Amino acid sequence: MNKKHYQLPLIFSILLNLFVPLASAETTAIVGGTVVDLEGKSPISDAVILVEGDKITAIGKADDVNIPANAERIDASGNWLIPGLMNMHVHLGLILPGKMKAQLANESEAALALRMADAARNVLQAGVTTIRLPGDTAHADIALDRAIKKGQAIGPRIYSAGEAVTITGGHGSKKNGKANFDGPYELVKEARSQIMAGAKWVKILISGGIATDGGGLAAALMTPEEINAVVDAAHRFGAKVAAHSGSSVATSIAVDAGIDSIEHGYFLDEKTLRKMKKHGTYLVPTIVVSQPATEPFFKKIGSPAWYLKRRNEAGKAHFQALKTAIKVGVNIALGTDQLPHEPNDGTTATAREAQYYVEAGMTPLQALRSATIETAKLLGAEDQIGSLEVGKFADIVAVDMDPTEDIKALRNIQLVMKGGAVYRNKLGQ
Ligand SMILES: [Zn+2]
Repeated sequence: MNKKHYQLPLIFSILLNLFVPLASAETTAIVGGTVVDLEGKSPISDAVILVEGDKITAIGKADDVNIPANAERIDASGNWLIPGLMNMHVHLGLILPGKMKAQLANESEAALALRMADAARNVLQAGVTTIRLPGDTAHADIALDRAIKKGQAIGPRIYSAGEAVTITGGHGSKKNGKANFDGPYELVKEARSQIMAGAKWVKILISGGIATDGGGLAAALMTPEEINAVVDAAHRFGAKVAAHSGSSVATSIAVDAGIDSIEHGYFLDEKTLRKMKKHGTYLVPTIVVSQPATEPFFKKIGSPAWYLKRRNEAGKAHFQALKTAIKVGVNIALGTDQLPHEPNDGTTATAREAQYYVEAGMTPLQALRSATIETAKLLGAEDQIGSLEVGKFADIVAVDMDPTEDIKALRNIQLVMKGGAVYRNKLGQ
């Protein structure tokens, strides 16, 4: 990231308030806070985290870390320090059925890109410093990722799947003459073109979904040959594959094919979840979208009756599947399928999602891991992000309660740092 870009005159920093980094000193020392241990060991109280450039260079007790004289200090006394949160199921350009769809019917690709850039800035305000995008349109997400890396736009680290690979008639299938793909040959070609455009992931939709009327939620729509072909082709390029699936049958086929993550899992049964556990396949629950806390959101956006009905029907089974997944120990990475910062139940969708995990049986520490180190492992980026360690990116969040005691701590984000730059600072306010 180009640091110079952020050295705005003070007056601009004030005017633009939360949306530009509030500080970007070359060396920053976060002092006085308690560093949470994600392995469940004792936390480090009265800690110092030293940040130089975009990385963590020292971490330890105040007595053990030398703070350079020129370092800028951030006083995090009374707060707990955790890695930047990650959200593995985000569509920055999401358009849901209802009023919103009508309003945005003629949105140009340029307008889409700007709407997504605005969302990306707000993602950071929710304490989310890394997102995975399993399907947006026009490759605006890939352009946005590049712009953020160049310092031309502000937002989280992005892992994109480019455009979702859809089959004719299935969930998310494209209409208006846009292409869908059928059979191993076409699917492999499309997966490769997403990778060529810059996608690090490939997204397939192997069962029906809530938001479209294409196919039953529990139906296995893609054939084993099709799923095998996409997964094999993607892995040969080092890309990972995420499958939208509500179906046990479809999921079982995908797990055999070596899929990296299953999204939603509305109707997954214990047998399938045990298979996922055995193969190490990740579940990205997006539980928040089917649960009561999100009802006001769907009413607000004017969702049609058929959609609300489908959502409520899936909700109970979805929560049961999540409970079973937690019980059998499936790898879980947090994802919302709502914008990470979307207001939900007095907090954000991301914080509410984590709270649902605890309600479904996780310990607060497990829920915190699902939003940090587990997501980093799903991305294959655990050497760079996901925990507060020397050598990793300085993606750091402060909360004013101990999140290992109560996951509701995530409801109040006090400080957000990404790559050493501060994007939100309510400490001491
Ligand atoms: Zn989605």
